[in-house]
Amino acid sequence: MILKLVNPPEVRGFSSDRDKAGGLGTMVPVGKLERGRLPNLPPLDLLYSAAIAEREGVRVEIVEALGEKLNGEGVLRRLSEPPPPDFIGIRVSLPSLSEDLGLAMMIRKKFEAKVFLFGNAVKATEKDWPLLPEGIDVLRGEAEALIASYLRNERMPKEWQLVEDLDSLPFPAWHLVALQDYAPKGRISQGVFNLSTSRGCPKGCPMCPYFHTQGSHWRFQSPERVMNEIDWLYQLGMRRLQTRDPNLGLSRKRLDAIAEKLSQRSYRLHLAAETDLESLDRPLLEKLARAGFGRILTGIESGDPDCLRDIEQDKRALERSIENASICRELGIEVVGFLLFGNPSESFESVERTVALTRELPILTATSLMTPYPGTRSGEESVKSGRFSFQGDYHQYGGKGCLISSRHLSGKELSLAYRWAEEELKIANRRKALENKKGWSLFRGNLGLFAFSLLHLPHSWRFQEAKKKGIRSR
Ligand code: SF4
Repeated sequence: MILKLVNPPEVRGFSSDRDKAGGLGTMVPVGKLERGRLPNLPPLDLLYSAAIAEREGVRVEIVEALGEKLNGEGVLRRLSEPPPPDFIGIRVSLPSLSEDLGLAMMIRKKFEAKVFLFGNAVKATEKDWPLLPEGIDVLRGEAEALIASYLRNERMPKEWQLVEDLDSLPFPAWHLVALQDYAPKGRISQGVFNLSTSRGCPKGCPMCPYFHTQGSHWRFQSPERVMNEIDWLYQLGMRRLQTRDPNLGLSRKRLDAIAEKLSQRSYRLHLAAETDLESLDRPLLEKLARAGFGRILTGIESGDPDCLRDIEQDKRALERSIENASICRELGIEVVGFLLFGNPSESFESVERTVALTRELPILTATSLMTPYPGTRSGEESVKSGRFSFQGDYHQYGGKGCLISSRHLSGKELSLAYRWAEEELKIANRRKALENKKGWSLFRGNLGLFAFSLLHLPHSWRFQEAKKKGIRSR
């Protein structure tokens, strides 16, 4: 039996990362300068599904449109290569859903194989789909929970299914893709590869796509299983890993055990993790630093109390995160704080407060505008309150555009305020990055910073004018 799994092509002019946003995927516009960028990695659920199918005795091929730089025609050509498939699976993502469904229909017309769709975007959107043509199946659940039964032609459940025992998963089928495609100059040791050790999060933040797609029940691999996979990734030549868990630090005990085992290994890796920072402490952070964690990505969200309240974030947790960020700096762990703009209480002043707070912190920042993901509480609230309406274009969910308004700002004002904040924080990031530079690279960096700051001036002026106008009209 032959299974071919397709990671569909990117929409022209956009970069798609199908693993991000809880597996719903992101799709951001790419500038001309970024055209030669490395492809994004294939999503882990596709690689796990391939490995499970292999365990079932199925021969599997991955048609990886990003790594192989294929367009739709290229995918059809690759699928036509012998041997002919019995099954073709297509991994859909939310922002590219229309294109992915279009590709699925073309594949269905051209091939005799059974065609199926999978991916968390199914859960978020299936109720809104136009009717799929006869003969395209849909896996309703994490593909790893269903693929074996599907290939055995068993009856598929209608309810969304999750993998309960993550320890039972085989290692993702990295051996079926060309790892060098995702690494600078083809050096696998220089590429950053993904690892997933847990799913779900009980915290239930209203805007969180992970909570919607993976659920509130925290499922996790044992430290031993995690280490077995890391050892194997090391053997494949990987040296830089980024965890794709929604919140790696949910159990301090488990994280402590993983860090302990990592520091006992004879090899050293560069690791990055997305985690709450507030629940960690100095001893654990020291252990993480020793284990090779050089980067922590964490939600700071906002510096404004009302905005924090909107998304049910605790101000004290923010204060603890800030304290821990200083410890990280001492230990040489870089902290990247995610900031979310566009909460219901967002105003020009709240945007300024967030910028003022985070500019001075010993962290780098990554900004985003609230995306009202379907199925999340924030998404539902923004539709109900009239702050967002879906226009039938899934590209809207790419994760970069301004889709909503707030109680105090129109969509246009929010967009302007966001652009100002984004640039202010980019300037702050550049400044922080220059702190350890010397000589020529410091000079070059300062020159770049000066040019960027100049280009920022008109936006800064527009922001201040809009703010004054807003205050006058209140
Ligand atoms: S803590 Fe993080 S992963 Fe968990 S629900 Fe909140 S935003 Fe999502």
